[in-house]
Amino acid sequence: MYQHTFHRHKTREVRVGNKVVGGDNPIWVQSMTTTDTHDVEATVAQIHRLEEAGCELVRVTVPKPEDAAVLSEIKRRIRIPLICDIHFDYRMALAALDHPVDKIRINPGNIGGYERFRQVVRKCRDKGVAMRIGVNAGSLEKDLLDKYDYPCPPAMVESALRYIEIAEAEGFRDIIVSLKSSDVPTVVETYRLYAKQCDYPTHIGVTEAGKPPYAVIKSACGLAPLLLDGIGDTIRVSLLGDPVPEVQAAFDILQATGRRVRKPELIACPTCGRLEIDLEKIVAELEKRLAGRQIPMRISVLGCVVNGPGEAREADIGIAAGRGKGMIFRRGQMIRTVSEAEMVDALLEEIDRWEQEEKSKQRTHASTAGVNTPADSNSADNGTARASPKSVSLPMVG
Ligand code: SF4
Repeated sequence: MYQHTFHRHKTREVRVGNKVVGGDNPIWVQSMTTTDTHDVEATVAQIHRLEEAGCELVRVTVPKPEDAAVLSEIKRRIRIPLICDIHFDYRMALAALDHPVDKIRINPGNIGGYERFRQVVRKCRDKGVAMRIGVNAGSLEKDLLDKYDYPCPPAMVESALRYIEIAEAEGFRDIIVSLKSSDVPTVVETYRLYAKQCDYPTHIGVTEAGKPPYAVIKSACGLAPLLLDGIGDTIRVSLLGDPVPEVQAAFDILQATGRRVRKPELIACPTCGRLEIDLEKIVAELEKRLAGRQIPMRISVLGCVVNGPGEAREADIGIAAGRGKGMIFRRGQMIRTVSEAEMVDALLEEIDRWEQEEKSKQRTHASTAGVNTPADSNSADNGTARASPKSVSLPMVG
């Protein structure tokens, strides 16, 4: 059987609070608050909504002393790692580091020179706090703009590498790197160039992507080639407005690229004149009843016999409809035929059975190997990457 090849860019592991970024760890989903950070109630409320949506790392901006002053309070009231976003004023980074924050994001292009950067590095090192060197095409150092004319991929990578070198000279290696641009080809080329030269983990994203739905598509266009190349250890989809939809969009991109599968993937045909059942109604009902289920499986629902049996055979559970009836397939085997009215219930029965069997297989495997399953261990995810379109035996997620 044909297998996709996939090699994740080998990166070091860097701890950020209760998450380890890089290595074989899951590609974590990050977002950023839009509140005034010093408005603790509003900031914490927004972070709670992000946590509820599944966000795994959150960044807050720290432009003023009053924002730095409330970081302990925010940290105390949230469950996910807290990252402080610093631009222009290195003293805000130093102030933030007086609080139990989990990562500092520095923009090397606007931090005010190497010596100021060194001071932040030393304090991160002494406090054991990770740092993101967040290069941004819109704020690249002047000498690099003079050298390259515009913020091209080599200029951005050179910016990251020079600051990495300075940090390393201070004995600091808890580094994560981002190289963001609002231009998709620049994003893809820059991260690819970086990955050839460096093994610090990366935070990936297309910056200032704009307003959804176009911004989600633009982000997907930039992130998918990287994820398929194995690049990226944390991900953000930057959307104008409420940050909560960023989280779902990021998970959808991870799922569509097969890099992190947390929920059932519904494959449905677009329908055409051959359609023999009310497919939209069936898919809507299935989506509703599967909402919130964290089963990494592939379910296909196709409207006629043209592609139906073929797709259904490729899925974990599939149904191929025709003339008011549906043939249900389970991993390639046709197991039963049901009427159109019974399709959703029958599919859900099979999905439940499949889930129970997978859980039981994992428990057996775990007890033989003496390890916890993700489902048992409360781990957020196992970072499953789908290697083949035949998504059989994907481990369950917690
Ligand atoms: S599976 Fe059948 S109904 Fe669906 S788009 Fe293809 S030909 Fe049309």
